[in-house]
Amino acid sequence: MEMDIMLLFPVILGWLAGCFVNYASDVLPFTRRFSQPVCLHCQTPFSWADYLTLHACRSCGKGRSLRAWLVQILAVASFTYFWLSPSKPLGFWLGAIVLIYFGVITVIDLEHRLILHPTSLFGAILGLIVGTFIYSHKYSLLMSVGQSLLGGLIGFGVMFLLYQFGTLVARYRSQKMQTAGQADDDEEALGGGDVYLLGVLGLMLGKDFILNALILGVLFGGIISLFLIIALLVQRRYSNDALMTFIPYGPYFIVTAFYLLFL
Ligand SMILES: [Zn+2]
Repeated sequence: MEMDIMLLFPVILGWLAGCFVNYASDVLPFTRRFSQPVCLHCQTPFSWADYLTLHACRSCGKGRSLRAWLVQILAVASFTYFWLSPSKPLGFWLGAIVLIYFGVITVIDLEHRLILHPTSLFGAILGLIVGTFIYSHKYSLLMSVGQSLLGGLIGFGVMFLLYQFGTLVARYRSQKMQTAGQADDDEEALGGGDVYLLGVLGLMLGKDFILNALILGVLFGGIISLFLIIALLVQRRYSNDALMTFIPYGPYFIVTAFYLLFL
């Protein structure tokens, strides 16, 4: 019985965490700061009571998005799960902060194909703390900071090179399209924000695990993209351009890091 009442704690905490992820994802891409939440349909400001209880907009009557509800459910479920069996390297509290951070960047990346600089900066600080904490079980403090920094450098460096390569390919392609008389569409195979994201994940995972995360993330993203291309082929909607369509790799790397840190 005591156990059941104790479970209310992660449920409430998870609900609040979900609210924060929704809030950050609603305001940061538009105002770049923690401004008052507004209805996404009519821009009427929400009262905090309405916002936190997912109340429909009182001005235009439109309900909150499916994403808002999904985030709430996932947040409550994951907080309850990790309350009962916390991440071994992170523990519950640090794990909770990492979960919230992953939630915010995943939602913003999926909805806007954007990795914001302020969230990357926050992530770098969090990443250094997480990485140092993980390695401090094994090494001295100074060594642990070094492991984390080295991981960050590798993640950032490898992704930076891939990004440069992607830019070259894009330039070649836009030249080809211009000679073919098509308009340049400015697609990037790999977003620049992913370079910062991999720097952050490198800080978190440290030098021992960042390469695993890179390889797993690229494989995972590649496999999903392959299925998407096959689906397009089956629907006969495939064209040459589909191959070069922007792949938001960010979420795949986040899923991989989540797996390495929590499971
Ligand atoms: Zn409204």
